[in-house]
Amino acid sequence: MITYFKEILVGFWSLLAGMAVTIRYFVKPIVTVQYPREKLQMSPRYRGYPQFIIDPETHTHKCIACEMCSRICPSQLIALEGVKFPGAKQKIATKYVHEHYYCSLCGLCIEVCPTTALEYSQEYRLAGFRREDAVFDHLILLQKRQKAVGLPATPIPTEAEIAAAVAAEAAAKEAREKEAREKEAAAKAKAPKPAEGPEQGKPKEAPPEEVKE
Ligand code: SF4
Ligand code: SF4
Repeated sequence: MITYFKEILVGFWSLLAGMAVTIRYFVKPIVTVQYPREKLQMSPRYRGYPQFIIDPETHTHKCIACEMCSRICPSQLIALEGVKFPGAKQKIATKYVHEHYYCSLCGLCIEVCPTTALEYSQEYRLAGFRREDAVFDHLILLQKRQKAVGLPATPIPTEAEIAAAVAAEAAAKEAREKEAREKEAAAKAKAPKPAEGPEQGKPKEAPPEEVKE
């Protein structure tokens, strides 16, 4: 009989303990995220796919198409092109595509960049049905991010604009080379000519051998 009442008391006590836990969490803030209606705030150290940093001064990217990131990527996932427009000091990226499906997030592309143009994104919703869903055109992604924060979108040069810039750069290079050749020829013409003589260029004759008696 005593055992019977003891079991009832133990059971009642465990019920109270369970209810206490439930009540404690009932009044605490909810930690469950209603995905996909709610979006998670990721840690600052979270490594999403590499993306362009939006420069706070120019409000655009800082990629000069040096190709160091594409060369160092161990999985060769980055394809980019760039062109130098007339009047510009450096090249600018006209294409930057990152195939993310094999990316190990090693960070080499970010570390090697001489202009600190890249960072890890905070994006974690990367599920897709096709391989192409994990291929990112970073110039288009940059435009979307710029529009999202109210900045003017960086225009992507058209094929015609790129071709015109390439032709202009080739013409400028040809003009520079021509100018250098003309300067070199003028310098040669001004240089004093070495004095010419009958013995000039002839090998010295050996002195006549003495005849021994
Ligand atoms: S993080 Fe590593 S693997 Fe991914 S694109 Fe950059 S260099 Fe390549
Ligand atoms: S290393 Fe930096 S500047 Fe060079 S191509 Fe890559 S992102 Fe652009």
